[in-house]
Amino acid sequence: MMRKATQAILVGALALFASACATISDYEVSDREFAEIESAMRGHIEVLASDEFEGRRPGTRGEELTLDYLQTQLEQIGFVSGTNDPGNAWRAPVPLVSTMPVDSRIKFARRGRFTTLDQEASVAFTTSRRELVGEAELIFVGFAREEMPPEELSGRVALMLSEPGESPARRAALFANGAAAVITAVTSADTIAQIRAAVASERLHLASEEDASLSGFATYEALASVIGQSRWELWLEAAQSDDFEPVLTDFKATVEASSLRREFASHNLIGRLPGTDPAAGAILLLGHWDHFGVCRDETAPDRLCNGAVDNASGMAVIIELSRRLAQRGPFDRDIYVLGTTAEEWGLLGARAFAESPPLPLEEIVAAFNFDTVALAGRGSPVGFIGEGRTPLDAIILEHIAASEREVGDREIASQFLARQDGWALLQEGVPTVLLSSAVGQQGLVQSYLSTDYHQPSDEAEGISLGGAIDDLLLHEVLISELANTANYP
Ligand SMILES: [Zn+2]
Repeated sequence: MMRKATQAILVGALALFASACATISDYEVSDREFAEIESAMRGHIEVLASDEFEGRRPGTRGEELTLDYLQTQLEQIGFVSGTNDPGNAWRAPVPLVSTMPVDSRIKFARRGRFTTLDQEASVAFTTSRRELVGEAELIFVGFAREEMPPEELSGRVALMLSEPGESPARRAALFANGAAAVITAVTSADTIAQIRAAVASERLHLASEEDASLSGFATYEALASVIGQSRWELWLEAAQSDDFEPVLTDFKATVEASSLRREFASHNLIGRLPGTDPAAGAILLLGHWDHFGVCRDETAPDRLCNGAVDNASGMAVIIELSRRLAQRGPFDRDIYVLGTTAEEWGLLGARAFAESPPLPLEEIVAAFNFDTVALAGRGSPVGFIGEGRTPLDAIILEHIAASEREVGDREIASQFLARQDGWALLQEGVPTVLLSSAVGQQGLVQSYLSTDYHQPSDEAEGISLGGAIDDLLLHEVLISELANTANYP
């Protein structure tokens, strides 16, 4: 599961659909069979979240072991490579760039007088090895609420006031319209420290989405001392006004940053269980295989983030669900399994899949994401992420009702919409949902987020699988119906 981020809201489509009736017994298995599924899933989780697998960080030996394990499991079940690329069977390369900030400097000049901002009061970043904008004109753009034309921004350094939740998009718009660098003014030195801490460790980006933007941050106080208290206050006051116009100042700004940079390929694992009707489209099961690997310094007693719940549990459900579907098949439609990389760094693998999919995305009739699924006990409500955004609502709600489970808390489900891989596919029009007891009720996921989430303590021991197995059985019946054209044209 990805850290919280603010995203735009997609307008979804809602279609009605009527399906054959299923009865509760379709969603239940004997206690013995339930125990068998549980033991198989626990086995997968213990392997994937073992110290040997090193926390499954992209680009490490842990990646190799993880991909080997998943491929072997799926091959035993009857899957074949789904990459549609004989040169890269099973593993679709995802070129990544890793960066780690090293050093930065922000300097202002006016009438030949130079002032460098304090390190405690300012910081700048780039994803390049080194980026420098030297003595460029400084334009004060206030909150940058209005989009600005390139002729006003090109080659200049924009000084912007931060507005919580809005700043990233406004910064991106300033860069898109030609700003050479953007300095965001923040109210306190604590914020600078937080920004430094947040990006102090290695960050991963898609090589295909890389921008070499140069982004700086500085405190109000530091800016006031360089610009002059009364002038700064005038600018701040002007920025509050509805008819604010950007101010081209007589300051020159120098912004400089460097980072350690490494390029490497990670991989999405893609398998396919062939259907009988090549023209019928496909069902996709996806989950992210990656996690954070070594996530603490040498002094910590446990340095590994093993990611048992997040997301060895999701991959374990996918393997056992795939096994049961393969036994029920063959179906008309292909069933694809996608294990994504670098979800933890912003859904990178899922975005790469959407950019260059092994089959046209329109052919994916339904996609089901499995992420952080093992929190609830048996009989828990089903959280429904993606409700109202695909034509799948009716058939899903019908199956939840037939299984005599409650639909989970909608407020909670909606909080996770943009924090999971399904979001990257939904944005490209693929009908994608996440159905999980883990996001079905108040308190459950919150308690995980405040304890083991992204911590070395997210380990295989003692995790709760009852709800995840209920969910697996629900998916089994639902997907068996969706996979045949007679039931779901
Ligand atoms: Zn996560």
